[in-house]
Amino acid sequence: MTADPPVRVRFAPSPTGRLHIGGLRTALYNYLFARKHGGDFVLRIEDTDQARYEPGAEDDIREALAWVGLEYDEGPEEGGEFAPYRQSERSDLYREYAERLIEADRAYYAFDTEAELEEMREDHGAYDVTTRRHMRNSLTLSDDEVERLLEEDDFVVRLKVPRQASIHFDDVIRGGVSFDASEVDDQVLLKSDGMPTYHLANIVDDHLMDISHVIRGEEWLSSTPKHVLMYEALGWEPPAFAHLPLILSPNGGKLSKRDANQLGIPVYVGDYRTDGYEPAALLNFLALLGWGPGTDEELFSLDEMTQAFSLDRVGASGVQFDLDKLRWVNEHYVRALSIDELAQKARPYVEAEGYEVSDERLRTICELVQDRIQVVPEVATDNRYFFEAPDEYEEAGVEKRWKDASADLLLAYAERLEAVDTFDTDTVETELRDLAEEKDVGAGAVIHPARLAVSGRSYGPGVFGLLAAVGKDACIRRMRRAAEVLG
Ligand code: GLU
Repeated sequence: MTADPPVRVRFAPSPTGRLHIGGLRTALYNYLFARKHGGDFVLRIEDTDQARYEPGAEDDIREALAWVGLEYDEGPEEGGEFAPYRQSERSDLYREYAERLIEADRAYYAFDTEAELEEMREDHGAYDVTTRRHMRNSLTLSDDEVERLLEEDDFVVRLKVPRQASIHFDDVIRGGVSFDASEVDDQVLLKSDGMPTYHLANIVDDHLMDISHVIRGEEWLSSTPKHVLMYEALGWEPPAFAHLPLILSPNGGKLSKRDANQLGIPVYVGDYRTDGYEPAALLNFLALLGWGPGTDEELFSLDEMTQAFSLDRVGASGVQFDLDKLRWVNEHYVRALSIDELAQKARPYVEAEGYEVSDERLRTICELVQDRIQVVPEVATDNRYFFEAPDEYEEAGVEKRWKDASADLLLAYAERLEAVDTFDTDTVETELRDLAEEKDVGAGAVIHPARLAVSGRSYGPGVFGLLAAVGKDACIRRMRRAAEVLG
C-alpha cells in the first residue's frame, strides 16, 4: 500500500476580471481542504489568454482574498518552491509538453486558418465529429509538408482525441464520470502566438506543482476529459478531481451576471465589501453554498469550518443563492462586534450619507441599533432619524398611535424637556412619566407620539435611549413640528 501524497491544492483564477462570488467559494473550499489536511494552498494566476487579460484583475483577486483572510502558502508575490506562479512567466515551459504530446501521437499541428475553420463550422455546426474530421486536414499532410508549413505558416497544436472511446475519471463529489469521446473536441493546446491555452498550461502546472486535488467549479467538468487524456498521454498520474456544484439563481438556472443584477445580488467580492458585508459572514455563507455540516449548525468561524469541512459533505446538485440567508448570517456577525468596532466600521457609511457625528454619539447610536440591523451601512441608511429630522410620518403608525390628545401631550412634554439641564435617558424618562401622571394618562399616550414625532416611525430602539441620542434641541423641534403637522 502506498501512502496518500501530501495534500496540495491551488486556486487558479484567470485575471480576466474582478473576482466574483463563485470564484471566492472555490478559493474557500480549496483553503478549507488544505487546512483541514495540513496541506498547502497555492495561488496560481492563469494569465495565458492575452486577449481576455484585464489589468488590475490580479490585484483585485489578491485584495479580495486578503479582505476575507484566506491566506495562501505560495503565490506570485510570495514565491515558493514551485515559482513562478504566474503562467505568463512560465510560458516557455509549455511548448515542450506540447511537443511531447505530438511525439506520442496524442496531439498534432494544425494549419487551418480562422476563415477555414469558420467555413467548417458553418458547414457542419459547432465542434462535432464531422467538423473535427475536417479540422484534421493537416494529419493528411506528409512529414515534409508539415516541416515546410511550420516554417512558413501559422500553426496551432491540437489534442488528438480518440475517435471512438469513452473517457472515464473519478470525481470525489460526483463519483464515476464518463464522457463519450465524440463529445470532446480536438482542443487547441498551443495557440499560433506560441502561448498555451488554459488546458495545456493547467495540467502541466498541476503536475509540476505536485497538486494532489483539483477542486473547481462544475463549469470545468466538461474540460476534464481533455485533461485526463493529456495526463495519460504524458504518463502522469492525474490529481483527484472535485467539481463543486453550480450556484443557481433564485429564478432557476445558473446564476448569471444579468440575473444577479436584476435580483440585486452583488456579483463581485469587492461589491460585498463596498456594501458593508462582514468578510467572515460572507465566508460562512459561501461555505454553506454547496457544503453542509450534517447538523443544524449554520454559524461557523473560519477555524470551525476548517474542522468541520469535508468534500464528502459537498453535494453535486446546484445550490440556490439566497441573499436573505446571507443577510441573516451577516446579522449574527454584526451582533458579535464590539461597539467600538461597529462604530468604526459604520463611520464611512454615515459620512457617505453626508452626516456628521462625533465618535461618542456614533457609539451611542450603534448601541441602540446593533440588534436591529443586518449590515453595517444600515446604521445610517436604516436609521436616518438620528442624523436628520424625518420628512414624513409612517402612515400606519399615525393611524394607530396618533390620538386627539397627542398634540397637546407632545407640546407639554417638549416644554418640560426644555427645562431640563441634563438631557439623558433617565431624565427624558422621568419627565415623561411625571407628565403622564400629571395628565392622568398612560405612559404610552406620550411614548408613541413622541417616537413618531422624533423618528417618523412607530417602531425602533427603546424610546428613551432614542430621544437621548437624537438630542434635546432636535427632539423639541421635532415634537413641535409633529404637533403642528399632525394636529
Ligand atoms: N483558470 C481557470 C479559471 O479561471 C481555472 C480552472 C481550474 O481550476 O482548473 O477558473
